Amino acid sequence: MTATEPPVLILGGTGEARELAAALVAEKIACVSSLAGRVSDPALPVGEVRIGGFGGADGLATWLTRHRCTTVVDATHPFAQQISRNAAEATTATSAQLISLRRPPWTPGPDDHWTVVADIGEAAAHVGTRVRRVFLTTGRQDVDEFAGIDDSWFLIRVVDPPTGPLPHRHRVLRSRGPYRLDDEREIMRTNQIDTLVTKNSGGALTSAKLRAAADLGVEVVMVQRPAPPDRGHAVTSVDDAVLAVRAAIAGQVSTRQSSP
Ligand code: NAP
Repeated sequence: MTATEPPVLILGGTGEARELAAALVAEKIACVSSLAGRVSDPALPVGEVRIGGFGGADGLATWLTRHRCTTVVDATHPFAQQISRNAAEATTATSAQLISLRRPPWTPGPDDHWTVVADIGEAAAHVGTRVRRVFLTTGRQDVDEFAGIDDSWFLIRVVDPPTGPLPHRHRVLRSRGPYRLDDEREIMRTNQIDTLVTKNSGGALTSAKLRAAADLGVEVVMVQRPAPPDRGHAVTSVDDAVLAVRAAIAGQVSTRQSSP
């Protein structure tokens, strides 16, 4: 990053954020990727990276001001609500431009058997209505919602081990995507899974489980996305995010050039 060029801040933790960093680095656009620091061995984007929270929206605004950063791409996971709220607030406070990169959600096909629920609590309530063999893929932060369900058995897939309370009958499976259809089918078949619980993350890296569930007649409990903050320029692909970043930078340059 040059001293004269304000960086684009990419709020990351997703495959799309890594792709965007690679694209901006390839175009020699100064950028810094930010990770929360939640996983012990994160997949790192190319280019400059900072790790750890900013200290709320105020801390993020301070960081933007200190680094003269006027363009922020919120490329965080669609279920990472707090950081997106902070990005909306901090860019409003500093008048920075906000580009919001969200991959499209998954939609059910004719073979899918989805039960759509509003949030993790509702997913747990639905799972608790009968005895099941559950494939739980919602991430370690949400596992404790299922801790009170003692009749069902859970295969809990996580990147890092969960630290909170767990359901009584379970096995923890540590792995990181992307996942292949054959492997997903095999996991569900050998563990006699009848229910898959997932957030509607969208994207191709983890969608094989949905095809596998449809093939095996497994019910999918699909947690809907929370509404994103009502601010920023929304895009759904990395290519469009690159275009939006270019336009944002060009706008800043022309504003600077036309200033007295
Ligand atoms: P969250 O609840 O929205 O954010 C909690 C706090 O973590 C934020 O207030 C912020 O701390 C810090 N934080 C989150 N993302 C950050 C980032 N990219 N850079 C710097 N600080 C960040 O977030 P979460 O749901 O725990 O997710 C954490 C990270 O994991 C996100 O970056 C997200 O992209 C990724 N991820 C989340 C999920 C999911 O299902 N939630 C799935 C896959 C990946 P301060 O207030 O101190 O700044």
